[in-house]
Amino acid sequence: MVVVIGSGVIGLTSAYYLLQEGHEVTVVARDMPTRVGEPDHDWPGEWASPWGGAMFHPDPRAQGDERDIQRETFRLWWELYHADPFTGLGFRLTRDFYDETSYPGSESREKDSENRMWAREFPQFRWLQDHEIPARAKQKTFGGHVTHGVEYLSASVNPWVYLKWLRTFLERRGVKFIQSEVSSIAQAVEIAGDHSRLVVNASGVGAKHMEPVQDAAVKAVRGQTLWVKTSYDGPMCSRTGKYYTYVIPRPQSGGIIIGGISQPGNFSKVVDDEVNREIVTKVDTICPDMIANARATLFEKGDGPLPVTSEFEGLPVIKKIIGFRPGRDGGYRIEKETIAGGFTVIHAYGFEGQGYIYSGGIGQRVAWLAATKASL
Ligand SMILES: Cc1cc2nc3c(=O)[nH]c(=O)nc-3n(C[C@H](O)[C@H](O)[C@H](O)COP(=O)(O)OP(=O)(O)OC[C@H]3O[C@@H](n4cnc5c(N)ncnc54)[C@H](O)[C@@H]3O)c2cc1C
Repeated sequence: MVVVIGSGVIGLTSAYYLLQEGHEVTVVARDMPTRVGEPDHDWPGEWASPWGGAMFHPDPRAQGDERDIQRETFRLWWELYHADPFTGLGFRLTRDFYDETSYPGSESREKDSENRMWAREFPQFRWLQDHEIPARAKQKTFGGHVTHGVEYLSASVNPWVYLKWLRTFLERRGVKFIQSEVSSIAQAVEIAGDHSRLVVNASGVGAKHMEPVQDAAVKAVRGQTLWVKTSYDGPMCSRTGKYYTYVIPRPQSGGIIIGGISQPGNFSKVVDDEVNREIVTKVDTICPDMIANARATLFEKGDGPLPVTSEFEGLPVIKKIIGFRPGRDGGYRIEKETIAGGFTVIHAYGFEGQGYIYSGGIGQRVAWLAATKASL
């Protein structure tokens, strides 16, 4: 048996791969998604996964195995999406914009093309023509200076649907879920009634206090997004760098998530509308059509599948979201170790703003590590 601590996207996807390899799996977590068919609620708690955007943006900084990890997620999502229309996954043409602040080599298309542009591997990849870059994004006086952009087919996920789908999929195939907060690896094993002593630590920010892990490098990184009602069906968009921002469609439920804020050390659970104004301004530079479409959408409070709760900067807002990404100084941890008490622990945490993109490849590696005596 394998005990997985954590029921966020990393814990659930790890359980998925472990199950494929024939393991008996028990998930122990303080916070967990409800099941398909159960009413939604505002899933409280200190976990990240329900509050993710979440888009698949092939990280231009990724090299070697990091790319393989992301490739596996893309493959998994493609497979799940085509096998079941109710996963909460969706594929859409995507436009990424780059400016001189994005990363070394991003200051021009020529340098980038010989640099890190591995999005070239994605279906329907092409460089954007100059006229396809919105005029205001090109102006240096307004939010920097977009030098070039690319288009390709990528994915987004509706966490509220996908997490429920994953839990239900796993439970129907025998994975046990136990809702409990634990202070140590040993306590999780005891609660699961397990004797194999193989544990996956996918506790996100929880790894900071989990005995004996107590990883001081773990930190929460605050984000804020707006879930906006709109019938915009153009490309998903993102901009990398100092003016980081994104426009992410919500498959299955509709609406668009806009965001692009990273605030390490800020633990406020109160919505900051100044930050939201900044998000709207940034999005308006790279995706003015989306903002115009949403502003033209009738503002109407009330019930329905996507009830609008407020108006903000002329946009009908379904929800103002705050989330805390599980960050880690030095980057994420995927590693196997033996700890006191004879437990073998596979650590899988610290994915900050990329937990969804990494989930498939990390789940796959967790299963590899569970199957072998070797480390990665
Ligand atoms: C605003 C925002 C936008 C984002 N956009 C994207 C995006 O576009 N693409 C992308 O890939 N990622 C995105 N992310 C990041 C992504 O959401 C996270 O990286 C991912 O959800 C982390 O998943 P996780 O399973 O590691 O952690 P979590 O979801 O935090 O799950 C941790 C689990 O561990 C459990 N746990 C913790 N401590 C204990 C304990 N003591 N006892 C028992 N259980 C415990 C929790 O209850 C929970 O079940 C975004 C995040 C935010 C906030």
